[in-house]
Amino acid sequence: MIKLGKYSLGLGDRFGHQGNAQLKAVIKAGEKGVDITPVWNKSNREHLIIGTQPGDVRIEADSVTKNAGFIKPYFVDADHINLDTVDRFIESSDFFTIDVASYIGKRAGEEEIREFLALAGKYTDRIDIPEIKKSFKSSKAELRIIAEKYLFASKKAGEIYQKIESQKGKGNFITEVSMDEVAQPQTPVELFFILCMLGSEKIPVQTIAPKFTGRFNKGVDYVGDPMKFASEFEGDLLVISHAINEFYLPEDLKMSVHSGSDKFAIYPHIGAMLKKHNKGIHLKTAGTTWVEEVIGLAESGGEAIDFVKEIYTKSLEKIGELCAPYADVIDINVNSLPSAGEVIRWNSRKFSSSLRHDQNNKDYNPNMRQLIHVAYKLAAQRMDKYLMLLDEHETVVAECVFENIYKRHICRLFDIT
Ligand SMILES: [Zn+2]
Repeated sequence: MIKLGKYSLGLGDRFGHQGNAQLKAVIKAGEKGVDITPVWNKSNREHLIIGTQPGDVRIEADSVTKNAGFIKPYFVDADHINLDTVDRFIESSDFFTIDVASYIGKRAGEEEIREFLALAGKYTDRIDIPEIKKSFKSSKAELRIIAEKYLFASKKAGEIYQKIESQKGKGNFITEVSMDEVAQPQTPVELFFILCMLGSEKIPVQTIAPKFTGRFNKGVDYVGDPMKFASEFEGDLLVISHAINEFYLPEDLKMSVHSGSDKFAIYPHIGAMLKKHNKGIHLKTAGTTWVEEVIGLAESGGEAIDFVKEIYTKSLEKIGELCAPYADVIDINVNSLPSAGEVIRWNSRKFSSSLRHDQNNKDYNPNMRQLIHVAYKLAAQRMDKYLMLLDEHETVVAECVFENIYKRHICRLFDIT
């Protein structure tokens, strides 16, 4: 079975121009003693909005790694696929994020639920994790609630997995199961029984992406109590170790954190817990690379800053349409957005420092940052011009992309400089 490695980073590159800069950050981390497997991820939604094909991501990943002489493993992630969307990803991907969020809460058949209850009953007495014992009374009623919520979704995950396995062959790809795009977080107890279900579906899950407590808004910091997150995360890590043995899951099974970019408030906790329990992680970042492109173009001045100012003006006009698909993962206070008339007068420094995620800079505006985060569609509508500007200002833009991934993400998460 192919392995992902202890630490891996999901890199989104919506316009496919920053693979070199992203890889440079991974290589630099390796030089500092932190080996990270790069994974280029792009969802079906992003492909549809931008007009790209899954094969384009493969071409990018293969060429940037080849050019850099990068001989360690790397992957191409079919991000958030389901039964309807997986087909066109099969050939070019070797990492599949099976998204079962839309099936959660749908009820499995009574016969299946009973079968699961009989199976799960065997495991409940053997859970020796104090945090879990505190909140879980091992009653039939509790188990039934979990089964009614997650069993159908797990069976669907099995169906999707089988579809991929029948074409790619067993052991030739990484399997992730994601449940993050839902309203309610999953508790460590629920995670344990979800892993039980995935195990009995014979899914060799290597990363699992639950929804955590707190708000994981796109491109901005964590909103919630970091201590509460830390204890939930620790519970999850303990659950994973226990589940690997109980359900014969792959020994490298690890947590995956989605919308993981810019969650600076919890990075030190994640890092500390991984060290304490000697565990790995997959951290998925996505749209921040696009925001760095906008920042780089703003810094470049001239035609480039005019272009990104126009994008911002348009994003104000189309705010409802742009935000709708991301309602669960953004919180924009419209009253704190600068007007188009204001922004038109801004210089490069003011524009870039409003967007760059530096909480010590008084110009930093998380509302504007989230809006730009979801506004990539507007650049896609003027693709030729946008790509021309990216090429023209490649050096400045690449530096922004590198700095962001290396300094603000990798260094903080792994406590290096
Ligand atoms: Zn996700």
